[in-house]
Amino acid sequence: MSSKWVYQFNEGDKSMKNLLGGKGANLAEMTSIGLPVPPGFTITTEVCNHYSASSSYPAGVDEQVAAALAALEADTGKMFGDAADPLLISVRSGARASMPGMMDTILNLGLNDSTVQGVIATTGNPRFAYDCYRRFVSMYGDVVLGCKPEHEDERDPFEEILETAKKAKGIELDTDLDEGDLKDLVVKFKAAVKQRTGNDFPDDPRQQLWGAITAVFGSWSNDRAVAYRRLYNIPDTWGTAVNVQTMVYGNTGEESGTGVGFTRDPATGADVFYGEFLVNAQGEDVVAGVRTPRPVSELAEVFPPAYKQLLEVRQTLERELRDMQDFEFTVEKGRLFMLQTRNGKRTGLAAIRIAVDMVDEGLITSDEALMRVDPEALNQLLRPIFSPESRRAALAERRVVAKGLAAGPGAATGRVVFNAPDAETWADRGENVLLVRIETSPEDIRGMDAAQGILTARGGMTSHAALVARQMGKVCVAGCEELDIDYVSRTMTVDGQVVKEGDWVSIDGFTGEVILGQLETRPAEVLQVLLEKSLAPADSSAYSYYAHMMEWADERRKLLVRANADQPDQAANAIAFGAQGIGLCRTEHMFFGGDRITAVREMIINASDARTLLERVETLERKVADSPDDTQAVNELAKARHEVAASKSVSDYQNALAKLAPMQRDDFVGIFRAMGARPVTIRTLDPPLHEFLPHDAAGQAQVAREMGVDPAVIAAKVEELHEFNPMLGHRGCRLGVAFPEISRMQARAILEAACVVKREGIDVHPEIMIPLVGIKKELENQERQVRESAAMVFAEQGLTIDYIVGTMIEIPRAALTADEIAGVAEFFSFGTNDLTQMTFGISRDDAGKFLPLYLREEIWPADPFQTLDQAGVGQLVEIGVAKGRATRPDLKVGICGEHGGDPESVKFCHRVGMDYVSCSPFRIPVARLAAAQAAIEERSELKLEK
Ligand code: ADP
Ligand code: MG
Ligand code: MG
Repeated sequence: MSSKWVYQFNEGDKSMKNLLGGKGANLAEMTSIGLPVPPGFTITTEVCNHYSASSSYPAGVDEQVAAALAALEADTGKMFGDAADPLLISVRSGARASMPGMMDTILNLGLNDSTVQGVIATTGNPRFAYDCYRRFVSMYGDVVLGCKPEHEDERDPFEEILETAKKAKGIELDTDLDEGDLKDLVVKFKAAVKQRTGNDFPDDPRQQLWGAITAVFGSWSNDRAVAYRRLYNIPDTWGTAVNVQTMVYGNTGEESGTGVGFTRDPATGADVFYGEFLVNAQGEDVVAGVRTPRPVSELAEVFPPAYKQLLEVRQTLERELRDMQDFEFTVEKGRLFMLQTRNGKRTGLAAIRIAVDMVDEGLITSDEALMRVDPEALNQLLRPIFSPESRRAALAERRVVAKGLAAGPGAATGRVVFNAPDAETWADRGENVLLVRIETSPEDIRGMDAAQGILTARGGMTSHAALVARQMGKVCVAGCEELDIDYVSRTMTVDGQVVKEGDWVSIDGFTGEVILGQLETRPAEVLQVLLEKSLAPADSSAYSYYAHMMEWADERRKLLVRANADQPDQAANAIAFGAQGIGLCRTEHMFFGGDRITAVREMIINASDARTLLERVETLERKVADSPDDTQAVNELAKARHEVAASKSVSDYQNALAKLAPMQRDDFVGIFRAMGARPVTIRTLDPPLHEFLPHDAAGQAQVAREMGVDPAVIAAKVEELHEFNPMLGHRGCRLGVAFPEISRMQARAILEAACVVKREGIDVHPEIMIPLVGIKKELENQERQVRESAAMVFAEQGLTIDYIVGTMIEIPRAALTADEIAGVAEFFSFGTNDLTQMTFGISRDDAGKFLPLYLREEIWPADPFQTLDQAGVGQLVEIGVAKGRATRPDLKVGICGEHGGDPESVKFCHRVGMDYVSCSPFRIPVARLAAAQAAIEERSELKLEK
């Protein structure tokens, strides 16, 4: 026996999370700092990995568990399985990353018909003894023996029996059950087990123990744990530990209780002791929402000494663990025990506030504060609220029908569904849904994720629904007891009104209100300050915390952050969010506005005929220039010129371009004005031309009418432009090469706009970007069009503009030949959407057919269109950067794909030495923080905690 598989709580500490799991390591830590923790031991995550791989235990585990159990017996003076005074234990899972409610726990293990007599004898409290016993049988039946609901509308079989017993007795609370009722429940629960499994409930405590241990290790691979890990990117290889701990009892009667505490308010981050408890209850009760718990402040009256001690514990925990803690405690006959502590889940708002406050309090450094906030959490600050008008209307119409606990901030409106699978299906078909449950459980997790908001009838601020909602950043109202929910008829009755599945309901996660109907939402406070400017910065504390955090982030980060913005209003938003430039302005988005599309279509319809004629002139011009004496060529040229002059296609083509030019120019003027001296990257036309024409007969008929041509002309053009794989077809710079007039028109519009704005005293910096370049010659071709147009504009305007020409790197060949391309390009912008598409050989538009399967099967670790595939696509990026800079050391490099707003991808961009990332305006705060974290990670040991 060479390895140590089992650690007693006094053998470990908080640094051993990988081995002991989060719960085990922190139980050890609390033990070592002298907090009152019931003794126990931890079986390591390595045992779980061994078990997951081979369904067997490594040699030596048996003996080590037996030894640790013996030590517990010595410690407590009770014997496991002893009929006179039995040691009872809990068997608790505890993974490395906290996975709330994902793994299963069994309490009161060691009970059977004979040991229960020992508990009665030593406590003189038969009601308590049978309360423990019935809890044990149902938990064990559920977790170890698999007696669970069989379909979505069914309740837990033990719950069912319990409900029936309470109904028969005419009582509502578990605590109103007496000794006889509880004893009877044990018998009925065991009978249910026998009926479902065909086996007797195990009586032997050691068999119970190993059954429980194996169930916990097995639960690492259950559906909901796997789903949770998928959702939060937790590797399957981490495994869970098993904690075996001496029981303490919050359910001995009125002199005991159990609760959950937070060292600060997890919803707002305020520095107050926060939490809930129940008298005469055991652990799970508070979280499961069996009864709605009381705020922890009331403990001051109920158990004054324990309360006083808890206030000290609160300080000690924050001092030792240096973060907001979420802890479990039990008061047994007035005496306090600590059962768990971990870094508390919090809303985005709370995360920021706590981090900033803790820096002020001298508890952590500002680097640490930056590493405490998941960049994605910033999105929560941008979450909508209900518009005051629609709220007032709802009030006047008496549609505010109930009030629950404000468990997850934000405003949500959606159609009611009563179970998680429905939430998923409805959301998949594009519905906004509100998931309404009596209480949620870990099985509901995917449905919760799919819903706009979550509404429960039972449970407190620390119920499963509230906890998970806060972590997901979902709007949640919990414990709304006025709701009478009926899963079978799929209705809920509230305030005398019946709400059916599919009806619209709104919930306010700031106030806890439940409102019938669909309410209009409004932007969050931060947005009111930044975008609407309807709120003064000083009047919003949310904003001031946000601003503080962003200021620190900006001091640290090396990456610049730009925005993808196509319009002046988007550009203005981008600046409000802190954009330092535009990294991608897509000119084609402008093509759809107003009556432009008509001009665009005229251009497209005539482009190829016109081009054929124009190209003939160009070829002959070259010929004549080479040999001016070639009279035949001279004559042909004159004829060709005549044809061009007479051609309606050519004039329509040129007229269309002439119509578009000023419109494009005005668009760019607006953008340049909004962006001031910040650089603005404008991309020339990118999508295949068929995208601008309607594909259905009715649409084509209408376009034909508008353009005064035969519908057949349009249909023929659509047919001509048809491609089998347009993503790999005639698009990007291939259009500019085929139709140089388009590139020239765009270059002109950009530079003329720049001149207009420069005259206004703004120091503009346009960057003209050529898309989809795969070979240097393509870029040379387009660069020539741009430079020639620029020279003409500058001559006309008597003004020059400081502009550069660069390219997207979005074709693998471009990345591989970046050294050649950088001979022409003054900047690179990695278009990682296309680059991912072409590197993987999958079309973004078709990936949906198999992407979910690939994620489920873990063939892909993540959606490569969301998170940059560093191993593959990332290599091309690295090669592109290195080769590009080898040719041109001062080459500007950025990214403009979706990945520019994804934290992991932003960090990658930092590591490969890009100058900037560009993302959608609303992702800018996320990118700023991620960029700061990348800089901090580079020079310190600090890591973002998940
Ligand atoms: P989870 O990870 O789902 O929170 P836990 O292992 O923390 O599961 O246990 C579930 C509940 O049981 C918690 O409320 C916890 O405080 C309680 N509990 C666990 N072990 C004990 C124990 N030894 N004595 C009393 N209560 C316990
Ligand atoms: Mg717990
Ligand atoms: Mg592209």
